[in-house]
Order: sequence, then C-alpha cells, then structure tokens
Amino acid sequence: MFTLIKLPYSSDALDPVISAQTLSFHHGKHLQAYIDNLNKLLPGSGFEGLTLEEIVSRAPAGPVFNNAGQILNHNLYFTQFSPEPKSAPSGDLAAQIEKQWGSFDAFKAEFVAKGVNIFGSGWVWLSSDSDGSLVITQEPGAGNPVTRGLKPLLTFDVWEHAYYLDFQNRRADQLKALWGIVDWRVVEERYN
Ligand code: MN
Repeated sequence: MFTLIKLPYSSDALDPVISAQTLSFHHGKHLQAYIDNLNKLLPGSGFEGLTLEEIVSRAPAGPVFNNAGQILNHNLYFTQFSPEPKSAPSGDLAAQIEKQWGSFDAFKAEFVAKGVNIFGSGWVWLSSDSDGSLVITQEPGAGNPVTRGLKPLLTFDVWEHAYYLDFQNRRADQLKALWGIVDWRVVEERYN
C-alpha cells in the first residue's frame, strides 16, 4: 500500500509561487487519486511489493506505469521545495552545471525553455548519469528518467493542474517563479 507523503512545509508556505489552494488540490486531490488508483491496480498485477522506482522501470505503458510514475514524480517534486531554500547549488553539482552550461543562469534558461516547449502534460527533468554528467529531459504524461537509466534530481510539473489556479495559461511565468522555492540542498543530496 502506498500512502500520501507529508509535505515538509505548511500549506501556505510556498505562496504566491504555489498557493495553498493549488497545494490542497495538487497534493491532497491529484496525488491522492494516483495513490488510490495504484493501490487498486496492484493486487494481481505482478508488481506488488516493489518500490515506485522498480514499478516505473519495469511496467509497460498503461495504468500501472501512469499511476506509479505520477506518484514517484510528485514525491520528488513536492519534496524539492522550501520556503527558505538554498537558492543556488554549490560544490560538485555547481561545478558540473558550470562545466556543461557555462553558468547557472544558462542552465535555468534551458530548463525552463524545455518545460515550456512540452506539448500538453508532462515533466521537465534534471538527471545525472552513472558518470555524474547532467542531462535535461522532457517526459510526456507520467514519464520519469529512471526509464532511461538516469537518476532524477529536479523536476518541474507542467501539467495544468500544477499552475492553472495561480498562473492560468502562463506556464513560463510559473516555471520561472519556481526557481524562488527550489531548495538546492535537496537537489545536491540527490546528486551526491
Ligand atoms: Mn502534478
């Protein structure tokens, strides 16, 4: 049985980037629904007892993959934010970003552009490969870079439910605003 993660901040702590109303729907309704769906789908599916990463890596396209993927994606998404974030990376991660993109600003610009350019619902990801190299990928639907053998580090949700109450159709504005609440301590822990 999978259960809803507890948020590591209060429901109004990320306002106005993510309002309490958006959080209550996004975490309390959308994520809860994916969990309820997966818990109903798992018995007899052959995926019982596996972790979310294992299910997402092994399940074929379909309802089990979609619901497990959405739970894994949202768990990573909601736990990367803080009302008092470390606002930029340091150490090995900062050095790798500088090496590959030239600057933190250039990295952020490419990440947002790739999120904006996803057609329809999906996720933009920063991941690392086994050598520690970084890659930005676009995943439609419930996609997660673990299916490519990558380690997910950071993600922006571009499903409309993530921003429509606060930003309506202005996806780019919401993605840019998210930089103000990304806690790079969390991203660095995932990288190291
Ligand atoms: Mn979402």
